[in-house]
Amino acid sequence: MAEWDVVVVGAGLAGSTAALFSARHGRSTLVVDAGLVPGGQMFNITRIEDFPGFPQGVAGYDLCPMLQEQAAAAGAEFRAGTVEALTATETGWSVTGLDEPVEARAAIVATGSTPRRLGIPGEERLLGHGISHCASCDGPIYRGRAVAVIGGGDSALLETLELVDHVASITVFVRDRALRGQHTYASRVEAAEKVTLAFDTVVEEILGEDAVTGVRTRSVATGETADVEAAAVFPYIGSEPQTALLAPHVALDPDGHVPTDVWMRTEVPGLLVAGEVRAGSAAQAVTVSGDGATAAIAADRYLATSAWAPVETSVAG
Ligand SMILES: Cc1cc2nc3c(=O)[nH]c(=O)nc-3n(C[C@H](O)[C@H](O)[C@H](O)COP(=O)(O)OP(=O)(O)OC[C@H]3O[C@@H](n4cnc5c(N)ncnc54)[C@H](O)[C@@H]3O)c2cc1C
Repeated sequence: MAEWDVVVVGAGLAGSTAALFSARHGRSTLVVDAGLVPGGQMFNITRIEDFPGFPQGVAGYDLCPMLQEQAAAAGAEFRAGTVEALTATETGWSVTGLDEPVEARAAIVATGSTPRRLGIPGEERLLGHGISHCASCDGPIYRGRAVAVIGGGDSALLETLELVDHVASITVFVRDRALRGQHTYASRVEAAEKVTLAFDTVVEEILGEDAVTGVRTRSVATGETADVEAAAVFPYIGSEPQTALLAPHVALDPDGHVPTDVWMRTEVPGLLVAGEVRAGSAAQAVTVSGDGATAAIAADRYLATSAWAPVETSVAG
């Protein structure tokens, strides 16, 4: 059985950065990711503009492979596979679900999150038939047509700006009275001629039998309903943390995230988390990367000292 110093589950920005730092600290580090291509949510994003060091912005499909190359060059090993369980052993953690059993002395779980479902009629039936969570992947399919976006945060705004290059018109349905996302994105969305902002409006149903034909909306203010034509719907109403591996070991907060101290340590010695899965994550590329680096440094110290004080707010250098 292969035994590693550190196993990292998830090769999004958090996990890949954890791998980079862990390997650079001289720890034998295995990274496992369930995706066809490692990179997590960031991989499909055409351009993020707020990652430090890239004044012109950077595509996720450029940034993620660069980071993985850097981590691999430092000595981390990347492997494809879905981790089904983490089990505590006398010396650390046993990983199941891979081709061969794997053990590690410390585990960093960076399993991220998946898009939150709307939970409305039509969603189950039409997912993949006009409902999409990836504007850069699916926007070009709807060239010249009207589409809908649901949500008013950063993800919704960024994806709306991506769709502007492809489709004829976009209606953005926002439950609240204002956009919540960054001013930079919000002002560009507001200025875009193709975009109509429908505030105070909830989408109650996705319409269409075999493919999306529109949405049924309700005004929060008046209760009036309306059917609006759309060839596709792009919902961005938040995300659900992927905590299945963690739930057997740690208590989750009311939103389903994992509480940690500032070093990304959970209540269980040798078990750390990083990125969107943790409580209080700012859910930005740069912050999840910071989590990954922090977790790797904390894991290194734990392996060196066996000390674990998860309620501390800082660790002496
Ligand atoms: C549309 C959109 C636009 C965004 N725009 C911006 C932006 O402009 N700027 C910005 O800073 N941030 C942006 N973000 C947010 C940013 O992309 C995320 O905060 C960040 O990518 C999360 O990284 P993560 O590593 O925590 O998780 P994820 O990227 O979710 O990675 C988790 C990884 O874990 C893997 N995994 C899960 N479970 C298992 C398992 N059991 N076994 C093995 N592997 C597993 C998954 O395959 C995945 O690769 C955007 C997000 C979205 C969705």
